[in-house]
Amino acid sequence: MHRNFKPSGNNRSRFAPHKRRGSGPKQSTVHYSRYINKAVTKEEDVPYEPTHTFDTFGLNPRTAATLRHLSFTKPSAIQDQSIPPALLGKDIIGLANTGTGKTAAFLLPTIEKLNANPVLSSVLILAPTRELAQQIDAEFRRFAAGQKLFSALIVGGANINRQIQQVKRGPHIIVGTPGRVKDLIDRRVLRLQAVNTFVLDEADRMCDMGFEKDIRTIEAELPKDRQTFCFSATMTPNIKAIVEQFMNAPETISVVKNQTNDHIEQDVVHTRDKAHKIEILTELLSQPEFEKVIVFGETKHGVQRLADNLSNNNLPAAAIHGNKSQSQRERALHSFKTNQVSILVATDVAARGIDVDGVSHVINFDPPQVYEDYVHRIGRTGRAGKPGKALTFVGQK
Ligand code: ADP
Ligand code: MG
Repeated sequence: MHRNFKPSGNNRSRFAPHKRRGSGPKQSTVHYSRYINKAVTKEEDVPYEPTHTFDTFGLNPRTAATLRHLSFTKPSAIQDQSIPPALLGKDIIGLANTGTGKTAAFLLPTIEKLNANPVLSSVLILAPTRELAQQIDAEFRRFAAGQKLFSALIVGGANINRQIQQVKRGPHIIVGTPGRVKDLIDRRVLRLQAVNTFVLDEADRMCDMGFEKDIRTIEAELPKDRQTFCFSATMTPNIKAIVEQFMNAPETISVVKNQTNDHIEQDVVHTRDKAHKIEILTELLSQPEFEKVIVFGETKHGVQRLADNLSNNNLPAAAIHGNKSQSQRERALHSFKTNQVSILVATDVAARGIDVDGVSHVINFDPPQVYEDYVHRIGRTGRAGKPGKALTFVGQK
């Protein structure tokens, strides 16, 4: 077995505190008019016509068969445009709306490269949250099924000793959150000298969360001779300048349509006070068309209280937020994904990037602080081109 991520030297404990975005209520800076988009322009919604098929990318037959099996019939725009240059070895900044298949856009070329040289290549993927890292890992396992390629998930909140054991087994791919990855580097468990593919998923959010320094430290451990991918739904010029420092003549591929998916119907609900908000929320959630709903709240405590409150009112709700352990978060997400509960109450950080099928509504119980958060929140519905609705609670006119 190859040992690409084998530990170097002794295991010294040097815990690096994980940096998280400061919590506590802040004023939203977004005018409510930006939450209204009833004019859903269906006629203009011409489906993207890809110039490639999954067969003409020249992927190995095994992956191509897996994709057929998964009913991936056509590449999405970001996949169509970024997979060919990625296969040629180019560094890529890929920008595309949420739910448009960015994960496959970087995983498929990565799997190709691993197949070409499974002994000498290894891959490091960083994502902002545990859930997102886990989703990427799950997607990797789906695409690479039966190919003898192994991954390890290195995220905070989960048993570190088990992760250390996994790293020692020499996985081809490490998917992790910056804090824990840095931790394992500091402990001399993780060696990154063999990494020839580095992926930053949602770099802007990682920077928002205060991970910039950790990312720099991790990047400094990587060989300079490597391929780097950065994929995100949103990227400010500032973040772009940061990620470009990690990249070699990157090609930027942007297929961002509108800022919010135009098939998501958006509207506001005027509310008076806290009690009124809960009353309206309860009313909405009791309606049959609110089949599968993510409710966003601002603070960890507020989210937990709201979920408890709903559950006590015959509206069973799961909650995910930063005060929950990894296994609690996993359980909550699982019960929502498998329709055991139809309501998930979440904070921005915990819900970022999660991909759950068939979310009918996103309700912003508390308004997002910045417009980017709004885009990410409502992107939890309307996945893979399906219709979705987003409602944002705002104070009275
Ligand atoms: P993003 O990272 O852009 O938000 P994801 O990579 O999470 O989006 O993809 C959203 C969903 O679409 C996932 O469930 C994924 O498996 C699915 N998907 C991605 N590409 C395709 C495709 N070409 N055909 C069908 N489903 C796809
Ligand atoms: Mg993604």
